[in-house]
Amino acid sequence: MNDPIALSFEFFPPKTPEGVDKLAVVRQQLYALQPQFCSVTYGAGGSTQDGTLQTVQAILAEGHQGAPHFSCIGASRASVREQLVRFAALGIRRLVALRGDLPSGYGAFGEFKYASELVEFIRAETGEQFHIEVGCYPEVHPQARSPQADLQAYAAKVKAGASSAITQYFFNSDAYFRFVEEADKLGAAIPVVPGIMPITSSTQLLRFSDACGAEVPRWIRQRLQAYGDDTASIRAFGLEVVVDLCEQMRCGGAPGLHFYTMNQSAATLAICRGLGWAA
Ligand code: FAD
Repeated sequence: MNDPIALSFEFFPPKTPEGVDKLAVVRQQLYALQPQFCSVTYGAGGSTQDGTLQTVQAILAEGHQGAPHFSCIGASRASVREQLVRFAALGIRRLVALRGDLPSGYGAFGEFKYASELVEFIRAETGEQFHIEVGCYPEVHPQARSPQADLQAYAAKVKAGASSAITQYFFNSDAYFRFVEEADKLGAAIPVVPGIMPITSSTQLLRFSDACGAEVPRWIRQRLQAYGDDTASIRAFGLEVVVDLCEQMRCGGAPGLHFYTMNQSAATLAICRGLGWAA
């Protein structure tokens, strides 16, 4: 069995009571992998605030470290301060601090323009109380003025006090290693954990990737499209591709793996089994 590296799992807040029950089962299945923490996404503008916190509270009550994602778009200093007090009172010690994206029909940016300003504010308000994760983009954030400007923006988050980073998902390992090397050269040397997206559906993956600017290499796209509705072949191929990617990350010294679980356990468990980390 390979030595496992730190694992973390990302969930989104379920919208229905059935979804809440289903996620509780998924979490129990994934806890077998002894995650370092589980994070819960946050609808920019605060649209899922209650669901995010309820899910994090459930994770904490189950004896695991729960980390809310927290986006500052549309927020004021007073509202962020209020949330930080609430987080601390609930026993939350880790946050994923993001800018977020403006939901359609949402006009104003609020008092924070970039995630670096949020990180700086959290540190100024709460010192070292929280482990602050930030997002980063080995294939460049889609709105960045240039790759170099994006790296500088990442370095600004590190300088503002980020403890570690989680990447947008990618399938090209060179992009990750190059990003880490370039960030190190800028003096922004915090742990950068690869975000891993299991491949279970062709249409979902291609839609998601187009929306968030993650590149699906041509050879993967072509193979997925060729499988058509053959879900079993898509899953088998996806498993092979992602296990191989994780293995490259582990061998190349990545400090952990963060799984975008999509509130499902099967694909993540299968990948960890493929890596020799799960029974
Ligand atoms: P920033 O770091 O602020 O960067 C945003 C853009 O601004 C980049 O293009 C950057 O290059 C540019 N920029 C930054 N600073 C400057 C500056 N000083 N001058 C000029 N340009 C600048 N979204 C959600 O809504 N909810 C979630 O729960 C969520 N979870 C995520 C988890 C992870 C691990 C990741 C990687 C992303 C997540 N996102 C989430 C998506 C994220 O909110 C979007 O990608 C958003 O567009 C950028 O957020 P950021 O924190 O990386 O922003």
